[in-house]
Amino acid sequence: MNKKTLPELDRIVKQEGNLTQGFIDVAGKPDGSHVSIPVVMIKGEQEGPVFLADACNHGDEYEGTEAIIRFAQNYSGGSFRGTFVGVLAVNFDAFVANTRVSTIDHANMNRLYPGNPDLFISNRVAHVYMERIIKNVDYIISFHGGGVELHLDPIVGYQPSDDPVGTMSRKMAEAFGVTLLWRMQNLPFDGVSTIEAAKFGIPGIIPEMDPIVEGSMTGRRMSIPATRAS
Ligand SMILES: [Zn+2]
Repeated sequence: MNKKTLPELDRIVKQEGNLTQGFIDVAGKPDGSHVSIPVVMIKGEQEGPVFLADACNHGDEYEGTEAIIRFAQNYSGGSFRGTFVGVLAVNFDAFVANTRVSTIDHANMNRLYPGNPDLFISNRVAHVYMERIIKNVDYIISFHGGGVELHLDPIVGYQPSDDPVGTMSRKMAEAFGVTLLWRMQNLPFDGVSTIEAAKFGIPGIIPEMDPIVEGSMTGRRMSIPATRAS
């Protein structure tokens, strides 16, 4: 039986059948708008686990955003078991500006988890995201990719532990369907969302997808996303 509490949205912009779309607001801006996290939720036809897919912790990595949009369009009827939670762009301001890091404090969002409510805005977004969404789900796919700069061979990172969370993470990576799997050990940085989520017993994976769209990208090609990992 699923014991998670579904994320509550501060603003709902669309409610249609099983689908709810809206925003979690983190902070107000001087112009009256908000620093927000855009969320789409689809309740399945049967009870089950809560599954989170997020994108654009790095604002220029649109591959996952596109995948979440397509999933929401194709499965808005809820023809699955459990609940789908899609976060189209965790770092929404960077997404809008087409930049990797925050346009407000220039921080790298995926080095800040679990976040800190007493620091500047990217830390606050990470904190709110952790508390109000990540801790309320059972599984996570956190999409990354080549973004506007790189082509890369698709690879899926998984939790580098041999406990049940790591074992499930490895299974998720194997099920994702790409050839290259990456045991994310000895990372030279902290603050990665799925690594922090694992500390709360939530397994997750990080697909690094290739943004190849013929004629639209000018990026360099990499075989391993070594310099811009996760
Ligand atoms: Zn990334």
